[in-house]
Amino acid sequence: MAQYRKLRMGMVGGGPGAFIGPVHRIAAELDGKIELVAGAFSQSPERSRAAGESYRIDPGRCYADYRAMIAAEAQRADRIDFVTIATPNHLHLPVAVAALEAGFPVMSDKPATATYAEAIALEQAVAKAGLPYGLTHTYAGYALVREARAICASGKLGRIRKIAVEYLQGWLSRPIETTGQKQAAWRADPALNGPGGCIGDIGVHAFHLLEYVTGLQVTSLQATLRSVVPGRRVDDDCTAVLGLDNGAGAVLMASQVAAGEGNGLRLRVYGEMGSLDWRQEDPNRLRLRWLDGAEEIRHAAGAYLSDDARAVTRLPGGHPEGYLEAFAVLYREFADALVAWKQGQANPLPATLPGICAGVRGMRFIDRAMTSSQSKSWVEF
Ligand code: NAD
Repeated sequence: MAQYRKLRMGMVGGGPGAFIGPVHRIAAELDGKIELVAGAFSQSPERSRAAGESYRIDPGRCYADYRAMIAAEAQRADRIDFVTIATPNHLHLPVAVAALEAGFPVMSDKPATATYAEAIALEQAVAKAGLPYGLTHTYAGYALVREARAICASGKLGRIRKIAVEYLQGWLSRPIETTGQKQAAWRADPALNGPGGCIGDIGVHAFHLLEYVTGLQVTSLQATLRSVVPGRRVDDDCTAVLGLDNGAGAVLMASQVAAGEGNGLRLRVYGEMGSLDWRQEDPNRLRLRWLDGAEEIRHAAGAYLSDDARAVTRLPGGHPEGYLEAFAVLYREFADALVAWKQGQANPLPATLPGICAGVRGMRFIDRAMTSSQSKSWVEF
């Protein structure tokens, strides 16, 4: 039976002034498969209601907290189909567990949890509930990231030897967490963020992109995490050397004190026969260089792209797609998987959509990097 109605989403987080909650709403609704109908948007009931008004949500479905949302929605005939989590990290585990225990699938923002121990608990909760769980590692939704992934899988680069991944931002170059800046305040508080600052906020994206594109797994690492800005309670700058399961080596750099940088995520993969280079700030082009051939630039929407890349392209070539569209790709895959699951398919999540395994690996990466930095030594993954 086809699913003709839109899937109903309940969001936790995304209150007034929030960064990523509104992005989730736009991305979820972009393809017309999902609509936001309920939420606990803020820890303040008034602000939750104000956010609901701005999203044009029935005031009766703007809840004072997530437990109230889950309890009330579970009783409704037109209940939400899943819960989206867009809160600071310390709430990812409790909200996900509450949703799963009430029978609601979950789409969560990264990092999966605040600590590695919590990620193990979440993995168990997902397995026990047997419900779909997706994780919004946004960059996995870009067409040319899918193309890079397909190229690595095809073996065209030859055996991969070296990877350089960097994620450089400059917005925390000053101690803006002490000025009340909303996004910085909780990120600099280990109780709300978890112990890994820059490594947990953006290092984990770089780590995910590396494994997602190459299909390789990190097996060992040596990391140095620093708090460059005086008084900051979490790291704001990280450098890691990584060993991969095929014997390749990688360097991962993440910094939030790289003055002048915006969202400088870049991945370079070097194989025996050639290399690829993708930059998030120029996402519609993928640069390929060959040992025995000319340099090649692949453009988003090119008819020559892999099936995986073309499947997530919406517009003809020359019409740039970006962050919102990439985010929406993840929601579209999640929506299609939910419909398949409702129709009885046991494991409907596609391999292209990050899920609980990626979440646990990401949290392990943060944990291992912190251990390595503290002990000043190589650690096994
Ligand atoms: P933010 O501070 O802008 O927004 C957090 C929102 O959560 C706020 O509206 C706040 O009121 C709300 N909130 C806090 N406690 C709550 C509670 N108990 N109940 C309901 N709502 C509550 O933070 P942000 O930058 O949007 O980050 C939120 C999450 O998204 C983080 O986990 C972050 O790591 C992640 N994030 C992911 C990406 C990505 O690329 N996928 C980008 C940015 C942020």
